[in-house]
Amino acid sequence: MNAIAFADVSRRYGDVLAVDGLDLTVEAGRTVALLGPNGAGKSTSINMLLGLLRPTRGRIEVFGHSPDEAVARGEVGAMLQSGELIPELTVRELVAFVRRLYPSPLGLDEVLEMADLTALAGRRAVKLSGGQAQRVRFALAVVGAPRLLVLDEPTAAMDVESRLRFWEAMRSYAEGGRTVLFATHYLQEADENSDRVIVVAGGRVVADGTAAEIKAGA
Ligand code: ADP
Ligand code: ADP
Repeated sequence: MNAIAFADVSRRYGDVLAVDGLDLTVEAGRTVALLGPNGAGKSTSINMLLGLLRPTRGRIEVFGHSPDEAVARGEVGAMLQSGELIPELTVRELVAFVRRLYPSPLGLDEVLEMADLTALAGRRAVKLSGGQAQRVRFALAVVGAPRLLVLDEPTAAMDVESRLRFWEAMRSYAEGGRTVLFATHYLQEADENSDRVIVVAGGRVVADGTAAEIKAGA
């Protein structure tokens, strides 16, 4: 079964063709990296996948439904590039609040543990470093136990140590048949954390395979 299907998807912003006839499918249970330089069309593709932006042309399905339907069914979790955290709330309060919005099979402590936030549970959001705040965004993305997790450059604000811990958390979330799609512009991150790398440039797929295949072709 496909978790994600893009069929001839394009998106224009005025004169800029940000995504240009994208065709791709992602099988359920895979962890896939969308690798490409800045401006390649990664965020635009992700925003369309989440139903936040409409394609100018083409069709997108998530588990056989439109993106809006898949999101409404609670099948999709997302970590976008920014997103304010309510500064006065503690990490535990923030995650607990969002957890109450979903019929989540995951316990609060389990989610905090998963996102490596147990030791920070009592800290107010305003006191968090960039990398710590990213871990909270990760917790908010997984709290509803979505079948598809979408991450747009999730480690952008993190130091080396936080990055390693973050990817560990992502991989453990992916276990057990969940699907993950993440955008990155680092081949190494794509290589170490995915089963398949889709390389995009100029809004098109320019390579698609395992990281070893991509490196061999580069
Ligand atoms: P990436 O995430 O790979 O950096 P984006 O999807 O953000 O790529 O951008 C793809 C192209 O679309 C770039 O040329 C970018 O400048 C352009 N673009 C993105 N968002 C907008 C927007 N809101 N208005 C106009 N152009 C945009
Ligand atoms: P700067 O952006 O000022 O170079 P960073 O701390 O972002 O500083 O990056 C330090 C080093 O880590 C650089 O070599 C950069 O290429 C690499 N790097 C930065 N972000 C990532 C990331 N998300 N994944 C892998 N490597 C990264």
